[in-house]
Amino acid sequence: MTNLSKSKLIAYRQCPKRLWLEIHRRELLQNSAATQASQNIGHEVGDVARRIYDPERNGHFLNLSELGFGELLSRSDTLARTADSPLFEAGFSANGALALADVILPVTTGSRRTWRMVEVKSSTSIKDYHRDDAAIQAYVARAAGVPLTAISLAHIDNSWVYPGDQDYRGLLVEKDLTEEAFARTAEVERWIAEAQCVAGQEKEPEAPAGIRCDKPYACGFIDYCHASDALPEHPASWLPNVQSKALIACLADGAVDMRDVPDELLNAKQLRVKCCTLRDEVYFDTQGATRDLASHPFPACFLDFETAMFAVPIWKGTRPYQQIPFQFSLHRLSPAGDLNHQEFLDLSGDDPSRRFAEALVNACGVAGTVYVYNARFERTRIKELAGRFTDLAAALLAINDRIFDLLDVAQERYYHPNQQGSWSIKKVLPAIAPDISYDQLEGIQDGGMAMEAFKEAINPVCPPERKAEIERQLRRYCSLDTLAMVKLWEYFGQQCKRN
Ligand code: SF4
Repeated sequence: MTNLSKSKLIAYRQCPKRLWLEIHRRELLQNSAATQASQNIGHEVGDVARRIYDPERNGHFLNLSELGFGELLSRSDTLARTADSPLFEAGFSANGALALADVILPVTTGSRRTWRMVEVKSSTSIKDYHRDDAAIQAYVARAAGVPLTAISLAHIDNSWVYPGDQDYRGLLVEKDLTEEAFARTAEVERWIAEAQCVAGQEKEPEAPAGIRCDKPYACGFIDYCHASDALPEHPASWLPNVQSKALIACLADGAVDMRDVPDELLNAKQLRVKCCTLRDEVYFDTQGATRDLASHPFPACFLDFETAMFAVPIWKGTRPYQQIPFQFSLHRLSPAGDLNHQEFLDLSGDDPSRRFAEALVNACGVAGTVYVYNARFERTRIKELAGRFTDLAAALLAINDRIFDLLDVAQERYYHPNQQGSWSIKKVLPAIAPDISYDQLEGIQDGGMAMEAFKEAINPVCPPERKAEIERQLRRYCSLDTLAMVKLWEYFGQQCKRN
């Protein structure tokens, strides 16, 4: 029997097949860019946690890649008996399981020394799977003989404002989970026994891909599972915004094709997706679209933002995970049909917010309609900028008053079966303008990639040639977003006239 790490046990909790594949077919694992980005965030937060919990810098960091498992377990065991300063990434194993603790802190009561464990999360709240996580950590450490008297989860406080000068006190808030975690011993023992059983199987367990594949983590075996599962003709996974308990239960029970999902479980939008998909038919509500698009004054400005957020803020006065706009693209269409383009991009590495706000006010002017795709996003960013730069507030908020959301029109009035249940502009564009495609873009092809590329470019170690390449890619990507909106607006207008 090999020891199963906490992450393997959590993988088992998500899907037994995932655990089996991680052990027996690891070469099939393909972590997405989003998973990689979230792992990077976890490391950043872990680094800051070490500074917060060990300001004197007299703790012990047990580096798995330097020590290897055997040495790390042995040193952790020794330190848990002898050390009186914080331990980071200490490892313990017992009863078929293995756990690395983010932080354990010595607690001295009289002549007795015990330990308090802190699990550090980069989320802004505690999720149910974090509670499982704490139960496993506490169980393994105690079963390994560590005198653990408390366990907490520390997560990010996104209302905290970074005061600058590398002072991160206040970034993390703790919640004590001792009672709950200590009470789950029997449950954890059952998970370990079941997971060990799955791990020891010769044959891959059967598990059709479904909603479990994204919860709580995006599974890196999704391509493999999709390729090996017979793909349904009309995948139920295309149904948008699945929230109702009855529909979730129906999908969890194995409904993989839309034909297996009863109409009465679907809301109007989901039903539209189902009907258009089964009939291979385009939906367009001419009257509604005509009403929506009538009487919006020219010039027509098509606007899109790119933003970056940092779990650990790097600019004074900003909050964790605050969306900081660093780029916009604006296509402007005159009443005569002339189209011109303006843009802003700041890769200096300084907080771009002020310059962004000034450039935005200049580019938008004071007249006409500002079309965006998902107005809540742009409106909120503009409102935040107005809150930070009060001298620009009136001009910024006046832009908000001119915003019109093309996503609302698309969602209510249009659907093409090729959208596969999504109204993302990247899914709608190929249906209405097949000659323009995000696939043509080199490098950056979505907002997540744009954010990661921005972070890479502002890193002082980024070579100038790479920075120049990122700049080119960002400019092309963002301008395609607003050009796509122009095409969508023109397409809807033509359809309204034609019908
Ligand atoms: S993709 Fe889904 S079905 Fe396949 S291993 Fe992962 S969670 Fe299980």
